[in-house]
Amino acid sequence: MKQLEQWIFRDEGHDYPVTINYRRRRSLGLRYREEKRDYICNVPYRYPKQEIIKFLQKHASKLRKRVESRHPIAPIQGDMVYLFGSPVTIEGFSSWSQAKQEKYLKKQLLDFLVPTAQEDAKKMGIAMEHSIKVRKMKSLWGVNHIQKGDITFALSLVHYRKDIIESVVYHELAHDFYRGHGKYFYRVLLKYCPDYWVLHKALGEGDYDGTHHLERKSED
Ligand SMILES: [Zn+2]
Repeated sequence: MKQLEQWIFRDEGHDYPVTINYRRRRSLGLRYREEKRDYICNVPYRYPKQEIIKFLQKHASKLRKRVESRHPIAPIQGDMVYLFGSPVTIEGFSSWSQAKQEKYLKKQLLDFLVPTAQEDAKKMGIAMEHSIKVRKMKSLWGVNHIQKGDITFALSLVHYRKDIIESVVYHELAHDFYRGHGKYFYRVLLKYCPDYWVLHKALGEGDYDGTHHLERKSED
């Protein structure tokens, strides 16, 4: 008996390859591989074809959408760059060196962060002036070096809507009051940034413009 078959699953005008993999098992299993935009379907031997088709029709589309919504879309696609939550075309961007691209994005982000952090610190009654830095960071959105008086923000914040970025500003500034993430820390943070949790969720899920988590801002 043939162990593998290649099928095509058509969904919303797009053809997705499906590898039908016959194995010793009892039930159908389906996996969607986001990088390859294809499916692996594990099927028991001699399983009726019609039933497999029904199974795909019932689950494949839903599964793909669930997988895709978990991951951010690429914030940079050729000359298109998500800047503060909106896709913007920057002529020639894809031909720039990585250093030039980063320098450009860094400037954009700093131009927003410096005045915003100053304003927010004032609102929070923080007298100390922080020096604001931006660099590429893998696992953090921001770090408040309290002793040095500077706050470093992740360069990738530049892709997000401004209120999402600002939630990180409030978070780091709240560390001026409390170093850890305890009850009192969040009391300060939520006082100044009441939507913190929903903004934070958008950030964590690569929802640059907040579509999946936040209300749309008026378009004017
Ligand atoms: Zn923190």
